[in-house]
Amino acid sequence: MRYFSTRGADQFLSFEETVLAGLAPDGGLYIPEDVPTLPKNWQTAWKDYSFIDLSVEVLSLYISPEEISKTELRALVEKSYSTFRHPDITPLKKLDEKTYILELFHGPTFAFKDVALQLLGNLFEFFLQRRNARKGPSEKPEKLTVVGATSGDTGSAAIYGLRGKANISIFILHPKGRVSPIQEAQMTTVTDANVHNLAVHGTFDDCQDIVKSLFGDREFNATHRLGAVNSINWARILAQTVYYFLSYFHLQRQVPNADAVEIQFVVPTGNFGDVLAGYYAKRMGLPMGRLGVATNANDILARFWKSGAYEKVDSNASAPGESAPVGGASDGKQAADASGVRETLSPAMDILVSSNFERLLWYLAYEGAAQGADEGSRKKAASATIADWMSKVKSDGRVQVPVAVLELARRDFFAERVSDEQTLDTIKYYFESDSHYVADPHTAVGLCAARTVAGQNPPQTCQIVLSTAHPAKFSEAVTRALHSAPSFDFERDVLPQEFKGLLERERRVIDVEAAQIDLVKRVIEKYAVPAGEVGASV
Ligand SMILES: *Cc1c(COP(=O)(O)O)cnc(C)c1O
Repeated sequence: MRYFSTRGADQFLSFEETVLAGLAPDGGLYIPEDVPTLPKNWQTAWKDYSFIDLSVEVLSLYISPEEISKTELRALVEKSYSTFRHPDITPLKKLDEKTYILELFHGPTFAFKDVALQLLGNLFEFFLQRRNARKGPSEKPEKLTVVGATSGDTGSAAIYGLRGKANISIFILHPKGRVSPIQEAQMTTVTDANVHNLAVHGTFDDCQDIVKSLFGDREFNATHRLGAVNSINWARILAQTVYYFLSYFHLQRQVPNADAVEIQFVVPTGNFGDVLAGYYAKRMGLPMGRLGVATNANDILARFWKSGAYEKVDSNASAPGESAPVGGASDGKQAADASGVRETLSPAMDILVSSNFERLLWYLAYEGAAQGADEGSRKKAASATIADWMSKVKSDGRVQVPVAVLELARRDFFAERVSDEQTLDTIKYYFESDSHYVADPHTAVGLCAARTVAGQNPPQTCQIVLSTAHPAKFSEAVTRALHSAPSFDFERDVLPQEFKGLLERERRVIDVEAAQIDLVKRVIEKYAVPAGEVGASV
């Protein structure tokens, strides 16, 4: 299996090259040359498989055995998910007859990003170790310096994915004092020698700008071999396809009359990674209805499914350009900050554009392209279309896709936008229901979208809502939603043992006094390479 860029279908990479590269040099995202189909007997052969067994089966369809054998893959997967607290890794829980929750937060940082980043860290380590084992005694070992900016969630999941990994250093920039105390503690209490937290005096945007500039600095990039773990990395999408299969089988076991049931997955969405993984599962042949895309007030995707316009700023919004104070609005029209991002109660979904959406657009363009053409030309035509659309988004802030493309998108997905107020109401609704379920605000966005469409579903539909974070990670929103519920007690009902005492634990963090790239470079130069190996430090 080889991979090519959504913006140019002429160069093909191995899985290893794809994973180490992250983003394609032309700005596109890597996709597999073909979406593999499932083995004929998958439904019977896989039905009792564990998460690990399914990972091996699904992943091996996308990775040539010459690159990673099934035995090696199993070892990698077992190691990756040994850090999870639940025996099912991603358990399925019933809320009511028609609604199930797929809990993705049983990994080390209590957020769904662990599912992908635990595997990605081990893949990086595996590739580097193999490359270094092939080197002669006088050759320098290959290393990777992972650099990223975070406003909370991604940083800790990346740190836990890469802590203690051979030949890899990780530098995570966060805006000092501007991430939640729990999230800051989750990151900075990891004291492994290869983990470096940089508390930058500045905003999240400052941190992100610095990281972008570092990647753009060819010389620095080449010296330190910078690597990214952001959500466009193909390995992250791939790892996430597995729980769609697992929950399919788990639901079959839990519902009566399983053969007649149609599954509808509903996914709280930011960068479109999680729900895209579901789309790959669907294309591979996993039976399901339309996938639900649930957004918060950052609703570029919900607007796309309404109008076929993919645009950063809502051109139909009333009073464009007006900007009320961030975070204060409670009427469902949350205000946007200078960049256009709206601050919501589900911050991990606060995005302006959804980077992985380009992958879906490619498939839509491909299906819309002339059927008569041969495979290669059809792929090239799709990539040319994507290059064109994306350059329009860059220059004009928007692109309008043809009606036929929008219809294709509607065939496989629906989308719903959920306000902060609805998010709080939904948390309360499920806590007060018979299930007494406490949902985190991201999960609540999914649950609310699911409820909105439930009435229009055929009667035999069962909804599986993906739960992306443990409620204790977003205590403010959860407490705000449930403060009036007499039986609610945050410490007793929500707070996991692992979070107790976290704030008091030993921390390791490097203070960066100003949001200046040179200060960050100095930190990386000082810590990235063990002393004596390369004389590049200042
Ligand atoms: C990252 C994240 C999301 C959004 O996932 P995407 O793959 O970017 O759509 C949702 N919820 C939580 C808690 C997250 O951390």
